[in-house]
Amino acid sequence: MSQLTLGIIGGGQLGSMLAIAANNLKISTVVFCDDINAPAQNFSNKFIYGQYDDKSKIDDFINKVDVITYEFENIPYKTLNEINRIKPVLPKPSVNRIIQHRIAEKDFINILNIRTTRYASIEKKSDLNSMGDLLPGLLKTVTLGYDGKGQYPIKSLEDINSLNIEYSDGYILEKLVKLKKEISIIITRFNNQKYEIYEPIENIHEDQILKHSKIPAEISDKILNQSKLWATQIAEELKYVGTLCVEFFIDRNDNLYVNEIAPRVHNSGHLTINAYNVSQFENHIRAVCQLEQIPLKKNSNAKMINIIGDQITIYRNKELAQNEFFFDYLKKEIKNKRKMGHLTILTD
Ligand code: ADP
Ligand code: MG
Repeated sequence: MSQLTLGIIGGGQLGSMLAIAANNLKISTVVFCDDINAPAQNFSNKFIYGQYDDKSKIDDFINKVDVITYEFENIPYKTLNEINRIKPVLPKPSVNRIIQHRIAEKDFINILNIRTTRYASIEKKSDLNSMGDLLPGLLKTVTLGYDGKGQYPIKSLEDINSLNIEYSDGYILEKLVKLKKEISIIITRFNNQKYEIYEPIENIHEDQILKHSKIPAEISDKILNQSKLWATQIAEELKYVGTLCVEFFIDRNDNLYVNEIAPRVHNSGHLTINAYNVSQFENHIRAVCQLEQIPLKKNSNAKMINIIGDQITIYRNKELAQNEFFFDYLKKEIKNKRKMGHLTILTD
């Protein structure tokens, strides 16, 4: 069999870990990214630097690969769709179109009778005046947000006056959920009714950025089963191929809500590299490249710490215990609030 080449759009840490997983499965990789310093070029076989609308760079990329996937959801739908006409893009671009738009995403989830927080579309400043019912709330850009970027807390209608935003960009107002906990489910869908699903992961955010994840999540069996069921329904409805993450809120009355869907491997799943027989990255590659599905087995419980900003310098010099695994994303520049690496600790 001739060797398969996987194209990965996006070259951050998720792209790096996908390339490493592919390599272990003897699949070669070409990373295409609009950042000339993209860290994933350290782990892929080839690297193409170009803007996501650069026709000749896209053609070059398509010619070098057999199948294409992506590491983040904010790639223009048009680009994914054009590529998909020539070579298969998985997960399919129509999935991305729904999920990269916070309102389309929540509408889709509600149609499945799955709970989300209450929300409304905000297209102009005056739309907010009648939204007292959704306060306290969070105003978020409808597209292109990540790690809490483009989010504005609104406690009362007075807060609206001090907002300095471009309403025409498109916003969603979400009612704030009184959080008890956040969890996520990572699921890999191979084909109709064929899944590998990881147990729920408990997540702690600081300043809207993920700080810690751990398994097992301390939740009731009811929430465990409900979250797995909802994630499976979402993956099935999307006819998804690859690894998907569903982020959930649990409120103080133990109600479960879907916060958002990530149509890709996810930060909370980094601990699967060390805690399971098959990681979320390997499972993604197995699904999109149509390799064998291997039943999941947990080898250990685990905790993951995200290393943000200049904390990385401490970890670069730290002596590791036998149960600790450090990943340095090899980013050229240390920036405040930037994810620079992570540490996984196997706990038993
Ligand atoms: P991002 O795309 O940046 O990950 P999220 O919508 O997941 O955006 O928000 C990031 C974090 O902010 C969440 O994990 C949660 O901690 C907090 N958050 C966001 N929306 C709400 C909400 N409606 N109620 C309570 N907390 C929220
Ligand atoms: Mg999120």
